[in-house]
Amino acid sequence: MGSTMRLSLVVPCYNEVEVIARFHQAVTRELTATGRPYEIVYVDDGSSDGTLDALVGLAAVDESVRYLSFSRNFGKEAAMLAGLRYATGDAVVIMDADLQHPPELIGRMLTEYGRGFDQVIARRNRTGDPATRTLFARAYYWLINKWADVELMDGVGDFRLLSRRAVDGLLELNEYNRFSKGLFAWIGFESILFEYDNVKAAPDRKSRWTFRRLLEYGLDGLLSFNNKPLRLAIYVGLLLTAVAAGYAVWVIVAALVHGVEMPGYVTLIAAITGLGGLQMVMLGVIGEYIGRVYYETKQRPHYLLKQTNVDPAELNQLKKLDGLEKPPAPGEHTRGR
Ligand code: UDP
Ligand code: MG
Repeated sequence: MGSTMRLSLVVPCYNEVEVIARFHQAVTRELTATGRPYEIVYVDDGSSDGTLDALVGLAAVDESVRYLSFSRNFGKEAAMLAGLRYATGDAVVIMDADLQHPPELIGRMLTEYGRGFDQVIARRNRTGDPATRTLFARAYYWLINKWADVELMDGVGDFRLLSRRAVDGLLELNEYNRFSKGLFAWIGFESILFEYDNVKAAPDRKSRWTFRRLLEYGLDGLLSFNNKPLRLAIYVGLLLTAVAAGYAVWVIVAALVHGVEMPGYVTLIAAITGLGGLQMVMLGVIGEYIGRVYYETKQRPHYLLKQTNVDPAELNQLKKLDGLEKPPAPGEHTRGR
C-alpha cells in the first residue's frame, strides 16, 4: 500500500435526507483522520424525499463528493453496483447512509487492508435484535450453508472494504439478479472479519426487512448459487416412485393372499392431493429458475441514471459499463470513441 493509496466510499441512499448531512460529517471526520486522499460516491436510489437535493448541496461545497442519481428506485443492489463501477479508489468501502455502519471502523478497515487483505468484513452481532429474528437467522444460515456453494455468515452484510482487484472481480459478475452476500463470498481473495456492536435503526424508521421480504431474500439466496433445489426435486421424485412401486407390490401381494377388498378412499385422496402439492412445489422451483433465466436474457441495464456530477468523459465510460460492454482495457479509452 503506497502512501498515495486512494480510498473510495460507496454509499447507497434511499430517502435518507434526515441523516445524510450528519452521515457526511461523520465520515468526513474519519476519512480526514486517515490522512489519505478519498472520494465519496453517493448513489441516490430514486429517493422521493429530497435526498438528491441534499447530495447536490454537499457536492457544491465538498469536491470529494460524487453523486449518481437513479431515474427511480432500483434497489440497494443496483445502487451498490453503480457506486462500485464509478469508484476510482485503490480500495472501496461500502457503507449504509443511515449511520448503522459506524464510521469509526473505517480506520480499522484500512489497517487490515494495509496488512494485505482484499476484503475486510465488518460483522454485526445481534445485540438488541428480537429473539425470534435471531432464531430465524440462525436456522436460515444453517440451511443455506448446507446448500449453497458459497459460505454465508450470519451478521455479515455489505459493510466492508474491498481492494481494487476484489472490486474488479465483483464487476465481472454482471448478473441481473444480484445477491451481494453471495457475490462477495464467490469472488474469494484473502478476507478478514471483525465484529462490531449492532446499531439499532432510528426508532421512527421502519426497517425494510418485513418478514415477507426476509423470506423472499432467503429464497433468493438459496436459488442464486446453484441448482441443488432442482436436484432435490429429482431425488424426491425418485423416492416417491420407489415408495409407490413398493406400495403397489404390497397391494398385489395382499390381494393374492387375502382376496380383493375395496378399501382406501382416504388413502387415495391423500395420495392425490399430496402428490399434487408436491408437483406444484417442484414446478415452482423450476419456474424460479426459468424466471431468472428470463430476466438475465433480457440483458437490461441494472439502473438508469437521471443526474450526476460525474464529468462527461468518465460518464461515457460508465455508460459503456451500463450497456453491459466490457470495460476498455487500460489505456484504450484514451483513444476516444
Ligand atoms: N437503500 C437503497 N435502496 C433501497 C433501499 C435501501 O439504496 O431500495 C439503502 C439505504 O439508503 C441505506 C442502505 O441501503 O443506506 C440500507 O438500507 P436500510 O437501512 O433500509 O436497510 P437495513 O439497515 O434495514 O438493512
Ligand atoms: Mg439501515
